[in-house]
Amino acid sequence: MVTPSAAILRGTPVVPGVAYGPASLVRSEVSPAAIERYDGTAYADSDAALAAYDAAAEAVAEGFARKASSASGAAAQVLTASAGLARDKGLRGAVRKHLRADVDVLAAVNAAVEQFVSIFTGMGGLMAERVTDLQDIERRIVAQLVGEPEPGVGVPEAPCVLVAEDLAPADTAGLDPRLVLALVTERGGPTSHTAIIARQLGIPCVVGVVGAMSLAGGTPLLVDGVAGTIETEADPDEAADRVAADAAARSALASWSGPGATADGVPVKILANVADGESARSAATAPVQGVGLFRTELSFLNRQDEPSVDEQAEIYGEVLAAFDGDRYVVVRTLDAGSDKPVAFATHEGEENPALGVRGLRLSFGNPGLLDRQLEGIAAAAATTGTETWVMAPMVATVAEAKEFADKVHALGLKAGVMVEVPSAALLAHRMLEVVDFLSIGTNDLTQYTMAADRMATDLAHLTDPWQPAVLQLIAITAEAGRQAGKPVGVCGEAAADPLLACVLVGMGVTSLSMAAAAVRPVGAQLAAASMDECEDAAEAALSAADPTAARDAVRALLV
Ligand code: PEP
Ligand code: MG
Repeated sequence: MVTPSAAILRGTPVVPGVAYGPASLVRSEVSPAAIERYDGTAYADSDAALAAYDAAAEAVAEGFARKASSASGAAAQVLTASAGLARDKGLRGAVRKHLRADVDVLAAVNAAVEQFVSIFTGMGGLMAERVTDLQDIERRIVAQLVGEPEPGVGVPEAPCVLVAEDLAPADTAGLDPRLVLALVTERGGPTSHTAIIARQLGIPCVVGVVGAMSLAGGTPLLVDGVAGTIETEADPDEAADRVAADAAARSALASWSGPGATADGVPVKILANVADGESARSAATAPVQGVGLFRTELSFLNRQDEPSVDEQAEIYGEVLAAFDGDRYVVVRTLDAGSDKPVAFATHEGEENPALGVRGLRLSFGNPGLLDRQLEGIAAAAATTGTETWVMAPMVATVAEAKEFADKVHALGLKAGVMVEVPSAALLAHRMLEVVDFLSIGTNDLTQYTMAADRMATDLAHLTDPWQPAVLQLIAITAEAGRQAGKPVGVCGEAAADPLLACVLVGMGVTSLSMAAAAVRPVGAQLAAASMDECEDAAEAALSAADPTAARDAVRALLV
């Protein structure tokens, strides 16, 4: 294990780039002295105490809303959601209940938040990730009540590397990339807010760095968002050279304009992951050949009732219309359940939702749900004329794949399945006898191969697609595609990692689908490597003992 005193700390790299600057440690707690001085029982009655809570919660919500109005995209959405959570009526009701039981206001806030934390934790997945947001709101409300500035990131006076245990949305959303050179957190996984916002701002970011919070403020840090390393004793001149080389390499990447191919001209489709019409229109301006993953369930997270076929056709049509001409769209049928609860589809009260009735499994007991969605997709394809492929998530058996493909073929569309469950990877050759293409969902494939919840911040070292067992399953799937002469793509986060993307291509993957922000770095990295080099990289990664050795071996070959 790495100790805080070691010259190199290691974590999970989530946003590439190299930065050098002094550590600025983020204070995440209200000072105990201020809490000590405050008498939460001094109010005349519980109504007066509740009024104090209301004022504090409203001040916190206004703070979030103010930051949201000067942010954009994912950052603005995250902040608006936090403002809503601070004003949440359920939370207020719980505070009122505890105040009536005659406890002091700080204890009432704490009890109410704990109540919601255990509900969110019990729901698992994305809801469990919101626990950090809730605890951040509690600290801010407490700060308002005791008359302290809200904890979190202040405005840095000079460029620095922010080091925190984990960053809350309010911290990350207001960051100025000119002053914050990199983000380093002790906790948090690849899907944490820290990672999402760092990706949007293009700030190098490493998460899950054990010992980061034991560093002294002001320590010069050389952060490498590709290698996942934090060097505490780097030579300043060497560090400056590495930062300059990285900046030059990044500006070369930004000019990549497609189409996807290796240096010796082997075509590889570079595609975008989208969620709705708006993200599709934006992705369509990137140098992509289409959409490799349209996550349909994301349009329905706030819906109580299933949309009609016509309504669905309209929603899907918006995405398809953004990719007419010679581009194509892979629509994924509803992947409801587990980390993506959809009110009208998800099964309630499952012991273990990630292993439960989710994805394609929802159609076992409710075939109409899938049939209506396929009808909506076919109608949108007919209206727009866009080439439309359809795939199912969470497929475990060949029989499931066949039943799904038969339905899709009956509508005259290309049919595929996602490879997210190890059984599907092991049987890829048989899957390909019944479907037209496969798409590897490395996020879930990693989760199920390693038996590690993809949202668990403490398991980030296991939920890493560079794990040898995950790479073996991808290689088996890609080889099955080669032999069958059918396309095998990757649409999980692994495709957005430029070095891993080359490894995947070396294994035989024919398309890479990713967040639009990753398209240019991935396309440019691939354009710099020949197919032979990609194959060598694949071999090196497959024979490495662990993710760190695999990354190091591939970097030595390709960078
Ligand atoms: C995956 O599991 O890799 C995937 C692309 O699907 P999602 O992230 O939506 O579960
Ligand atoms: Mg998945």
